[in-house]
Amino acid sequence: ILSLRGVTKRFGGLVAVNAMDFDVAEREVVGLLGPNGSGKSTTLNLVSGALPLTAGNVTLWGSQISGLPAQTITRKGVSRTFQLVRLLPSMNVRENVVAGAVFGHRRRWGREAHDHAEQLLERVGLGGKGDLSVGQLTYIDTKRVELARTLASDPKVLLLDEWLAGLNPTELQIGITLIKSLRDEGRTIILVEHVMDAIRSLCDRCVVMAAGTKIAEGTPTDVLSDKEVIRAYLGDDD
Ligand code: ATP
Ligand code: MG
Repeated sequence: ILSLRGVTKRFGGLVAVNAMDFDVAEREVVGLLGPNGSGKSTTLNLVSGALPLTAGNVTLWGSQISGLPAQTITRKGVSRTFQLVRLLPSMNVRENVVAGAVFGHRRRWGREAHDHAEQLLERVGLGGKGDLSVGQLTYIDTKRVELARTLASDPKVLLLDEWLAGLNPTELQIGITLIKSLRDEGRTIILVEHVMDAIRSLCDRCVVMAAGTKIAEGTPTDVLSDKEVIRAYLGDDD
């Protein structure tokens, strides 16, 4: 469903993402792993259109999406959450979710968008909190709102940037179950994650990055026991 070929991003002299090649099949959950600063978020930014590529291309169903505006990419069915949650502070929780429907793959308006937002809030564990202002929310709840907003566009491909980070053990189990349910309803997911439990239980396949480059690809079990991957996570000092 999604292919990256030679995807490269330079920031001045820094090559943040270096000639990344990988494919994501329909209904697959691909983990994008790597130490801090390895280029995972930048890769999602390139796929979602939040940043322009320096070189390479991204295709969705065989047609190029790199170079298109982010909103167009969303409308084609690719939606994402941000590592640093971005909500609209002047809107309440429900309005933030409804905002996601307007640019969506399957657009909804008015009453339909409102009712769908209520269902999504229920689903992410925020039932009855639609009228709260986003400033009143805990950190975890802002992440839940952001996921609901992303789902409001009915994405075929969901890009999750460390959505599970900072959750306590109970919230983590709920979060993993939630992502499983998204997979089971047929969504394709790229999961940027550091939580090993989540990687093992959710990912069909993993792509591991270090310093912008793909260093390994395979099942969670294979890549997590790969010596080069372990060395990348520990740092190169040994
Ligand atoms: P983390 O696990 O900490 O989230 P990451 O793998 O997501 O890390 P990126 O955020 O993609 O890493 O960053 C990759 C590299 O690109 C880092 O060296 C970072 O400092 C740099 N970088 C990211 N965004 C920008 C930017 N907008 N301008 C300049 N440099 C950037
Ligand atoms: Mg990141």
